[in-house]
This record gives sequence, C-alpha cells and structure tokens, in this order.
Amino acid sequence: MSLQAKALTAHLEQLRGCSLCPLMIGPVVTHHTVLSKIYLCGQAPGTYEGKFGKPFAWTAGKTLFRWIQRTGVDEELFRSRAYMGAVCRCFPGKNAKGGDRVPNLQEISNCSAWMKTEFELLKPELVIPVGRLAIELFLPKQKLTESVGSSFRKELFGITCDVIPLPHPSGASTWFKVEPGVSLLAKGLDLIKTHPSWLSTFPESAT
Ligand code: SF4
Repeated sequence: MSLQAKALTAHLEQLRGCSLCPLMIGPVVTHHTVLSKIYLCGQAPGTYEGKFGKPFAWTAGKTLFRWIQRTGVDEELFRSRAYMGAVCRCFPGKNAKGGDRVPNLQEISNCSAWMKTEFELLKPELVIPVGRLAIELFLPKQKLTESVGSSFRKELFGITCDVIPLPHPSGASTWFKVEPGVSLLAKGLDLIKTHPSWLSTFPESAT
C-alpha cells in the first residue's frame, strides 16, 4: 500500500470514530480507500446509508447512478475509482415537517475539517457536488439554473479544481424532470464525461 493510501485509510478510520455533532445520528458513512482525482460530494446520508455502509446506497443513489451510467460508467466502476465524500457524513435525522433535517452551520463546519484532509491527500481535479447544500459549500449561493450545466474553476482547501455541479437526485425533487432542468442536467453530464480527469479515470467511457 502506498503512503498516500495508508494516510487515506488512517483518515477514514479516524473519521468513522467521529462523534463531534450531538444531534447527528451514526454510524458515520464513508467511502473506502480510493486514490482518485474525482471527488463526488453528496449532502448527508439518509436513513438507509448507515445500514449499507456506503454513500448513495438507497433510492437517490439509484437515480444518481442512472445519470452516471449515461457517461458510460456503471455504479460499481464509479465506486471503485472515484472518491465519494459529503458535506456531513452522519444522518441528520428527520425534519418535523417531513424530509431529512438540513445540517446546521456548526455541523457543516465540523465535517468540513474531514473534507479538507481528503482534499489535501487526494488533490482532486474534478469535484462533483450533488445537491444544493453541497453546491453551496463550493460556490456562491445562486439558482440551480446558474450552477448545473456549467463548470467552475475554483481553489478549494488550497487545491485548484473544476467544480461541475449536479442537482440532488431525490425522488421528492422535480427540478431535473422538467425543463430547463432536463437540459442542464444533460449538459452537466456532458461536461463531466469530457473532463480530462474523467477520461483518465474511466478511459473505457470514451469508447
Ligand atoms: S457529521 Fe461529520 S463532524 Fe459531525 S459527527 Fe458526523 S462525521 Fe463527525
């Protein structure tokens, strides 16, 4: 195992033991040791991700991986070569009004420290935030129509990378099912599949 892989493995072990946020519900959901130049950032795990021990393990994941399949990369291949993080790695619990609770600023700040270490270790070149909360971690607050379908060159945690946002694939969302969401999602997926880091990580997707 390379030094970088050992460092990421040690990082993940530490992260899995985190209990910094009193309102969050464990277990901590993480990816595994994948040294990748692609960093997909979700929002926070839902009810089932902890049980399956991986991000995007339930219905939203099915939609997300259907989108990714359109680039020529299936779920198994994506999970094995791209790194998956999230704004928060624990389930925030349910909102009294329905849906999952949105993590508070302190929780987002707490969990960003783990992400910072991952950026320093992996130095990602392509960052794919999925959903508004993840997008707003990296880009100024703006309408989804101004972020999805575009690529933004940014410096994040001291690392220069391209940020290509995707909408949240939640079944409760209709944004990506109607125009302009349908076309902007397709444009975003095109930008992802032609990004140099995507092509070098998934050369088979170009054929
Ligand atoms: S959300 Fe992040 S910082 Fe908070 S307890 Fe879970 S892993 Fe730790």
